[in-house]
Amino acid sequence: MIYFDNSATTKPDKEVLETFNKVSENYFFNPASPHAKGIEADKLLESAREQIRKLLKLEKQSVVFTSGATESNNLILTGMARAKKQFGRTIITTKLEHPSVLETVRALEGEGFIIQYMRFKDDGKLDMEHLEGLLTSDVILIAMMHVNNVMGAILPVAEVAERIAGYPKIHFHVDCVQSFGKVPLQTEGVHSFSLSGHKFNGLKGQGLLVFSQLKTITHTVFGGGQEYGFRSGTVNVPSDVALSRAMRLTLDDYEMQRARLYQMKGEIERYVKQFPGIRLNSHHDGAPHIVNLSFTGVKGEVIVNAFSKRDIMVSTTSACSSKRAKLNETLTALHVPDKAITGSIRISLSKHNTAEEVHRFNEVFREIYEEVEELLEK
Ligand code: PLP
Repeated sequence: MIYFDNSATTKPDKEVLETFNKVSENYFFNPASPHAKGIEADKLLESAREQIRKLLKLEKQSVVFTSGATESNNLILTGMARAKKQFGRTIITTKLEHPSVLETVRALEGEGFIIQYMRFKDDGKLDMEHLEGLLTSDVILIAMMHVNNVMGAILPVAEVAERIAGYPKIHFHVDCVQSFGKVPLQTEGVHSFSLSGHKFNGLKGQGLLVFSQLKTITHTVFGGGQEYGFRSGTVNVPSDVALSRAMRLTLDDYEMQRARLYQMKGEIERYVKQFPGIRLNSHHDGAPHIVNLSFTGVKGEVIVNAFSKRDIMVSTTSACSSKRAKLNETLTALHVPDKAITGSIRISLSKHNTAEEVHRFNEVFREIYEEVEELLEK
């Protein structure tokens, strides 16, 4: 089987599984317990947190363990909006966001917040002039992703941080789920960011929220006061220690893997470009692991099934939205024509993929292309 759906989830590294099993076996204790074993578990948890701080080169920020980026995004956006509502009501985001951001701000709209969406120009670049126009004294929160999960587009986090530097009321949150380990993180001028372990060969149910103003937030999860009181619930020490391992492994060979991913991405792009009726939606200078292309005039699901039958797993748009009938919001916001959107597929790579797999993918691509060729709009 060839697995090219790594933006949906990745295969856990063996070392990560070993760490999880070892810690589950030997340190299953509750780190909040007052006895010697509880204290040992707590020490291990704090050393994992410290290691993450070092890996991410953090200074003052707090590291909060969560169950994934969906939870991280929900906690920060809801908690921050509610904490700041006496200062303003406007939240700025983009239509490119993952549902864990889009649906959260839509829920906040129901509480009386005003949501504004940054626009993208015809070339797919963020329209900074439009953003400038949205920056009123009512804005309290900006949420955007660093790398888009459907297209691999890299959003200009540093530029946005620079533009909003004169607005001290604004909290700037960045979803770094698809950028960690693929693109250098941009944390200057960013007040919080989220990560998800299963996107970089960690385990599902592992997330992080890195946050610089922990004391200023409204809590939304109540209970035993774990994770600085911000995220109550018995802490999953084995998972959190395994997450720090996954992060270390990712950063250990980051440069080499990034170069490999770009190489494999380039091979696919060069190959598919020669076929009339195929539209490359993603750009080579986007994230190294995502290729998005369209079989214009044919449904993306048909192509995904054709690959799947030949034991190659690719995706339509994104795992979270592929079961919904409406057009993908990311591709619409980036001005991809409707017909190309319905025919789009995403190929997403990880460090476990090989040049041989890319070669096989390209062969199968030709086979499938020939099968549907007469249906394509050229
Ligand atoms: N943000 C982005 C950009 C994602 O791609 C995903 C997962 O697909 C998430 C957030 C949600 O992450 P998790 O699965 O850890 O909740």
